[in-house]
Amino acid sequence: MRYELDHSEIREGVERLCAQFDGPYWRECDAKRAYPTEFVSALTEAGYLSALIPEEYGGLGLPLSAGAAILEEIHRSGGNAGACHAQMYTMGTLLRHGSDAQKRQYLPAIADGSLRLQAFGVTEPASGTDTGALRTTARRDGDRYIVNGQKIWTSRAEHSDLMVLLARTTPREDVTKKTEGLSVFLVDMREVRGSSLTIQPVRTMMNHATTQVFFDEMPVPADALIGEEGKGFRCILSGMNAERILIAAECVGDAKWFIEKASNYAGERQVFDRPIGQNQGVQFPIARAYSQMRAAELMLKEALRLYESGGNPGEEANMAKLLCADASWAAAEACVQTHGGFGFAEDFDIERKFRETRLYQVAPISTNLILSYLAEHVLGMPRSY
Ligand SMILES: Cc1cc2nc3c(=O)[nH]c(=O)nc-3n(C[C@H](O)[C@H](O)[C@H](O)COP(=O)(O)OP(=O)(O)OC[C@H]3O[C@@H](n4cnc5c(N)ncnc54)[C@H](O)[C@@H]3O)c2cc1C
Repeated sequence: MRYELDHSEIREGVERLCAQFDGPYWRECDAKRAYPTEFVSALTEAGYLSALIPEEYGGLGLPLSAGAAILEEIHRSGGNAGACHAQMYTMGTLLRHGSDAQKRQYLPAIADGSLRLQAFGVTEPASGTDTGALRTTARRDGDRYIVNGQKIWTSRAEHSDLMVLLARTTPREDVTKKTEGLSVFLVDMREVRGSSLTIQPVRTMMNHATTQVFFDEMPVPADALIGEEGKGFRCILSGMNAERILIAAECVGDAKWFIEKASNYAGERQVFDRPIGQNQGVQFPIARAYSQMRAAELMLKEALRLYESGGNPGEEANMAKLLCADASWAAAEACVQTHGGFGFAEDFDIERKFRETRLYQVAPISTNLILSYLAEHVLGMPRSY
């Protein structure tokens, strides 16, 4: 079933690669909460994880829509890009705000896979969505910074060499706005892991390799600062639209997988001597989920179009994430219901994908926060926080 022709060659390549990583592969990783190392290595070797890195740094130099196509196809195949998708958007922080020296030092190694940039340390247990309230500090000490604090939900930290870290460099009381005085660092975790950096896995309802990390007097060289000291919140914000768009593409992929599974099963499963899909009560939720997905996909394309024509489409990127996440959740629900009891059986992969796609209502940005952005920044209603 094909609805989308853009980047068809890339899509076909990703589809072929993903065919080697079938349901049993993902099921086993899920059961063991194991990192899908072979899948990530194959994706890296094929160059897909470096799609957005410019050619001058050894990447494929493709536009965001190619990254979206890659992630969508992974999810449409029944896989999960959560193990490695961050590399596509965290790399953007380095690309947009890093110095020439930083880009030359890191991007070629990230592109050829010898260095992994998969970890993104922003969320903290106490501050949550209120990023400006984060408590991790980085104090200047000669030619280095010393980092203290804690992050949570730092996904893939155990499988990454580098981490993009947001920390407070100017005390909250010395800045007028709480989003000022924050700085971004590219931390080489290989140098500090096990000493001043402790990583603890957090087991979740799906296999996501997420962790909490603790910084105890962790030294970071001063030249690991990305962009200007104190202006880190803006660096992170500038990557949010790309992140929302890429995640929306994963949701579309999930929705397509659920819809295909559900329609096939509805045609095959015989109950009362006829296919269950002959009953409109079974057809309609799938048909509705399909139209939700197609509408959401259009918004995703619009966000991509605006992004690639040089715009900064906060409104469309946020709406794409909202609508695509809702579409994948509606499709997941329809798919489980169509499968009856078998929707709950591990061997059908549906319950796994159901758990995986649920995340998009909360992370990387929760539905409420998108609605609040639209209400206040697009529709001009009073600010609630
Ligand atoms: C599996 C997983 C992986 C993640 N990976 C990463 C990662 O790699 N790096 C990273 O930095 N973070 C990561 N996150 C964190 C993720 O971005 C946050 O969980 C998410 O942004 C929500 O923040 P919170 O969990 O602190 O919820 P909270 O901020 O505590 O919010 C709880 C609930 O209250 C609602 N809420 C809060 N404030 C308001 C308001 N003003 N109006 C209306 N509703 C409100 C929220 O919508 C949410 O539903 C991950 C999370 C998960 C679960």
